[in-house]
Amino acid sequence: MEPVGVIGSGLGGLAAACTLAARGHKVVLFEKNDWLGGKAALHEADGYRFDMGPTILTVPSVLERIFAEAGERMSDHLDLRRIDPQWRCFFEDGSVLDLDQDVAAMALRLRGFSGAEEGNTEQGYLDFIRQSENLHRISDRFFFWKSVEDIGDTMDLRAGMNLATLRDILSLRMGSSVAKQIRRHIPDERVSQMLDHFVQYVGSSPYLSPAVLCGIAHMQTQEGVWYPIGGTRAVPEALVALGERLGVEYRTGCGVRRVIQEDNKACGVETDTGEIVRLSRVVSNMDSVRTYRELVGGAAEQSFSRRWKREPACSGVVLYLGLDKAYEHLQHHDFVFSRDAEEEFDAIYRRGEPAPDPTCYIAAPARTEPGVAPPGGEALYILVHTPYLRPHHDWNAMLPAYRKVIFDKLARTAGMTDLESRIRTERVLTPADINERYNVLDGAIYGLASHGSVMGAFKPGNRSRDLGHLYLAGGAAHPGPGMPMVMMSGWIAADSLDQDAKRNAPERLSA
Ligand SMILES: Cc1cc2nc3c(=O)[nH]c(=O)nc-3n(C[C@H](O)[C@H](O)[C@H](O)COP(=O)(O)OP(=O)(O)OC[C@H]3O[C@@H](n4cnc5c(N)ncnc54)[C@H](O)[C@@H]3O)c2cc1C
Repeated sequence: MEPVGVIGSGLGGLAAACTLAARGHKVVLFEKNDWLGGKAALHEADGYRFDMGPTILTVPSVLERIFAEAGERMSDHLDLRRIDPQWRCFFEDGSVLDLDQDVAAMALRLRGFSGAEEGNTEQGYLDFIRQSENLHRISDRFFFWKSVEDIGDTMDLRAGMNLATLRDILSLRMGSSVAKQIRRHIPDERVSQMLDHFVQYVGSSPYLSPAVLCGIAHMQTQEGVWYPIGGTRAVPEALVALGERLGVEYRTGCGVRRVIQEDNKACGVETDTGEIVRLSRVVSNMDSVRTYRELVGGAAEQSFSRRWKREPACSGVVLYLGLDKAYEHLQHHDFVFSRDAEEEFDAIYRRGEPAPDPTCYIAAPARTEPGVAPPGGEALYILVHTPYLRPHHDWNAMLPAYRKVIFDKLARTAGMTDLESRIRTERVLTPADINERYNVLDGAIYGLASHGSVMGAFKPGNRSRDLGHLYLAGGAAHPGPGMPMVMMSGWIAADSLDQDAKRNAPERLSA
């Protein structure tokens, strides 16, 4: 039997490779870069160590499940530390608010923060988290751990319609947005702005995203925010090692330029050097739109692109600053919020231009792991979301002025007035770099935008409807982006493939 192929070693690709190998498949993984882990990459310079991509790890139970596939325990391979307070928030008016994992403690904190003048934020927060818990439960039941592309995949609307399902559909609040739901409960605009940012985990506007994504808040309060010692980079390293123990063959520096097809089925790949590798089935961890456009083509591509016209999620600028000083007033994760949430999201997601006064996310990991910087220093990471790449965006030309906007913002709203003079080493990642390094869609960090008040939560399913023996894993496939979701997506792709291979059933194709 020919091996199974995985194209790409992002967290989704690695999770798929490990799960497949644990189920007894022979797996070959092709990665165009010379490192494994995709966006979860590492930058080291002058005694500083930076995670280049993801820094906030939530829902570790997904990673536990991947290790459990192989009969192993995640805790034997990763040293995870809980981060609580989860974020520190700096607002334009000078106020500062910490986000506690414990819901009751947070509600109490809000009583002191918001006062009673504008309404009851404390009670509003409790109500919002209750609604979020309900939406999370519905996601668990209808969306997670299975290949879903549309509502027909998740609910049998004719046979399964009963009162409980009807109640669940109604509580999805189809037609309403995340921003609307938050503001129904929360009278304090600063607290609303903080809660809006849960959908920044999927690179989408809270004004355009469906209410069901309010469930992300409960995922974070339930399982917490975690930091692996060694950085988030420790996650792909642990998965690569797991794959090695299970016999996965990794081929780095080996891009794939074509998926070979016979009888409307994937049956191999052609690498960038022209080598043909015969495979029984293929999992693509490359962006789903680009997989069809660049590797598959033909009728399958046409059928896929008729259904999927979604625009890319946001991109971003990341500054990696090695400092000779650690800022004591920062927590491990910090958000320095824009002066006006609507103005910011309108610029990024509607007008397609960098926000004039952006929200800056900061990671200060030396607070948890001092070894990331020389003594007394900090390996500061600053991420600002920007629009996905438009033809007129020339980031070489735009960066100097936007870097100044970011530094001015951090000085004004987070009191980091001497930041520039504290830098000992600096590197920048622009949307153009992100596009080039990871083969994403127009520089998108988080795959496809979750915009659309009804269909926004859906992504291309993990079992291709357009080409037999092809499966999709990663941020531009179901259930979406972010570390836990892409690892779940890899697991679903592997599980679907494994089930199909075992029954050798013909797939449901729409082409
Ligand atoms: C700056 C930044 C900050 C982020 N912050 C967070 C965070 O705090 N928390 C969080 O949960 N998520 C965060 N994310 C999102 C998270 O990193 C991603 O959702 C996730 O890592 C993407 O995994 P993936 O499986 O989609 O693959 P990717 O990481 O996109 O990797 C895909 C891999 O496929 C390879 N590839 C593509 N095409 C080919 C080809 N033709 N042949 C061979 N190889 C190919 C690429 O080289 C790449 O290695 C962040 C992302 C970025 C960039």
